[in-house]
Amino acid sequence: MIRKPAFISWALGVAALVSGVLAAYAGFRGANLASVGWILNGVLAACGASALRLAERRGQEASLATAEANALKEREQFLEGRVSSLHSEVEVLSALRELSRALSSETRFEPVAAEILGIVDGLMSPEAVGLYLAGDGRELKLAALLTEGKTRFADAAAEGASALPEKAAATAWSARRLHREGDTLAVPLAAEGAELGVLAVRLGDAAQAAAAEHILRELAKHLAMALQHPALRSAAVTDVLTGLYTKRHLLERAPALLTQLRSRGERAALLLADLDHFKKINDTYGHPAGDKVLREVSKRLAASIRGSDTAYRYGGEEIACLLPTATGSVAMRVANRIRRQVAATPVETGPGGIAIPVTLSIGAAVLSPEMTSWGDLLSAADQALYQAKAAGRDRAVLFHERR
Ligand code: GH3
Ligand code: MG
Ligand code: MG
Repeated sequence: MIRKPAFISWALGVAALVSGVLAAYAGFRGANLASVGWILNGVLAACGASALRLAERRGQEASLATAEANALKEREQFLEGRVSSLHSEVEVLSALRELSRALSSETRFEPVAAEILGIVDGLMSPEAVGLYLAGDGRELKLAALLTEGKTRFADAAAEGASALPEKAAATAWSARRLHREGDTLAVPLAAEGAELGVLAVRLGDAAQAAAAEHILRELAKHLAMALQHPALRSAAVTDVLTGLYTKRHLLERAPALLTQLRSRGERAALLLADLDHFKKINDTYGHPAGDKVLREVSKRLAASIRGSDTAYRYGGEEIACLLPTATGSVAMRVANRIRRQVAATPVETGPGGIAIPVTLSIGAAVLSPEMTSWGDLLSAADQALYQAKAAGRDRAVLFHERR
């Protein structure tokens, strides 16, 4: 394309040339120098125009080269970005390979959870990362927490729950998709149709959280698969509200355990504890306060038994304790220790909150040669509990065979 200045130079050049030729023709007749000047003038103008066009073409070529250089630079930057994202993908993949190698035969929740939190920590260096598990009623509980290089589980994890924004996990869980809340990302973990819980990561910076969304979403799919069996196992075995074992777990393990103890000639006792007038506590202080009481009572009870004894949430506000090798008098000693521990201090519903006095009634029964099944032991403890309630509550009663 010819631009305006070049066109004007051309036009002037041509005009000069024509006028020069005309002048030359006129001068041929009476030849004078002016006509030669005019011709030279025309030739020079034409040369000027050509030079201008040449310069313009050069300019165009130069700007084309600059554009190409810019495009190349952009491509280079894009490739650099791609390489670094490939690097992080490789890092994620090798972390996941490590995870599947370490956990291929692991079915316990804690080692799997620790590995998962460690992977997220290694990849994102977050301020806090938590793993919430869902219970039977889709209720979420913080089951594992990593902060300041320390991993905590169960109650210890729940105590550090303030390290993560309260609503983040719940929102991701109910919306069933990744949720970002300020500097925190929460992503639901689901595998093969099973909704297991939520992984929440607090990165300490909102922009960093936004940038990490994609990678966390991808990571969650793999982590959920690694977690699936241990999480389901843990959910089946651990009660979400109290952290005690579930009734299901007791029903699964008790028959075999008792048969084993009996075959070795060892004893066993069962305690059935029930909170007194718990309905009234709920009615007076509200259900959340009732939950808090249940949690605290469970904690005190768990702290009052030996490592070989196990406690189960047997019903709404009923707790069963299986005491291997215990005689009747040992069982009563343990029962009264639990009762005293629970009743000693009213349960505070919060810092500076209301203090609620709580008591327990406990039925105890010992495995006897006459009992033909685990159900007999259970029924004996239940009868003793009934007697404790009937006798005025806040006491323990040992089952005695009627002769
Ligand atoms: P008793 O001394 O005879 O045992 O009286 P109680 O009020 O404890 O017994 P009852 O069986 O009438 O009531 C049990 C209450 O426990 C009713 C139910 O709402 C409450 N409950 C059961 N599970 C939960 C729970 O998970 N959280 C709360 N807050 N309350 C629960
Ligand atoms: Mg009850
Ligand atoms: Mg009760």
